[in-house]
Amino acid sequence: MKSSEFNWGPALFLIIYQTILLVSMPFIFYYAPPSWGMIAVSIILLYMTGLSITAGYHRLYAHRSYKTNKFVEAIVLFFGTMASQGSVLRWGFDHRLHHAHVDTDEDPYSIQKGFWYAHCLWILKKPRKIDPKVVPDLMKNKMVQFQHKYYKYLMILTNVIATLFVGWLLNDYWGAFFYACWIRLFALHHFTWFINSLAHTWGDKPFCQEQSAVNNFVISLLTFGEGYHNFHHTFANDYRNGIRWYHFDPTKWLIWSLNKIGFAHALKQMDPLTIKKKMVIERKRLLLDRVCDLWYVKKDELESKVSELSDRLMNEFAQFNQLKELYKAAKRSHEWEILNELKQEITVLKRNLKQDWRDWSILSKSIMRMKPLNV
Ligand SMILES: [Zn+2]
Ligand SMILES: [Zn+2]
Repeated sequence: MKSSEFNWGPALFLIIYQTILLVSMPFIFYYAPPSWGMIAVSIILLYMTGLSITAGYHRLYAHRSYKTNKFVEAIVLFFGTMASQGSVLRWGFDHRLHHAHVDTDEDPYSIQKGFWYAHCLWILKKPRKIDPKVVPDLMKNKMVQFQHKYYKYLMILTNVIATLFVGWLLNDYWGAFFYACWIRLFALHHFTWFINSLAHTWGDKPFCQEQSAVNNFVISLLTFGEGYHNFHHTFANDYRNGIRWYHFDPTKWLIWSLNKIGFAHALKQMDPLTIKKKMVIERKRLLLDRVCDLWYVKKDELESKVSELSDRLMNEFAQFNQLKELYKAAKRSHEWEILNELKQEITVLKRNLKQDWRDWSILSKSIMRMKPLNV
């Protein structure tokens, strides 16, 4: 990389603080071990800054997946600034480019340039100029503009405030500096960077196989729920990343809770049938490819089973949508008899769908377990 392409400020900050930390970490732990209180407060700060990035920078500002009030925005901006990952404007601009041009040269942290490039080396490169056409909404936001203009000072100030507060709270200023500020910052940086590196490398692709983003719940444990990245790249405006209730997605739970207490509204959510349709299309393609590579005499039979079952599911999805529309129309015009008939039809269809979905999962698992020809 030429020196003119080097992003001097952020690069030096990251290299110096991480090198000093890695060298001094054993001494810090040996001579100034943390109290339980310090560990707890550092984890709380890690979560507050991390969630401000995922729920604020990412899902609120970069994707506009919900709306909120100025009070929540102020909190998100305060802790998001403390996370030291650049201003919302810079972050949102890069992230929108990442989604629009994933895996190409236009992607600022493309995984095609290597794991470590996508993880953090991309930050060493001078960023491209922010194009207002990519972030017109953020350009109009006064709070976002203020944060962008004074970002460097605000970043230092928020971290100093946090350190002094924790130091006063636990009567341990050095501990607050080491653990609640320095080590917390190091952990959060790498946890966030995992989304661009690990979540584009290690996992499966149930929603879209044409790009590198993967789903992996282990990554979610470290990234405040951002590990369901294949879903996210397929339905980027959905406020959730983990769509099932048990998926570990604290960012989704936070937004949902804010909505319940009236602090967030207009939560965007893809309808379940569209998601399932996409899953069937992707899985069908994968299964047919897999069957093609199988050393198995009844390949034709398997192929037609896959096509038949997937077609049936797609028909049932279409039928379900149709019945739903008819039901709404009948309700509007108070046609109670038709409404009852439709209710029964929907119940039967739901039962069939459940059974066919179960059969589809069993067929899919059994094909994926079969050994391909070249093994
Ligand atoms: Zn991504
Ligand atoms: Zn995103």
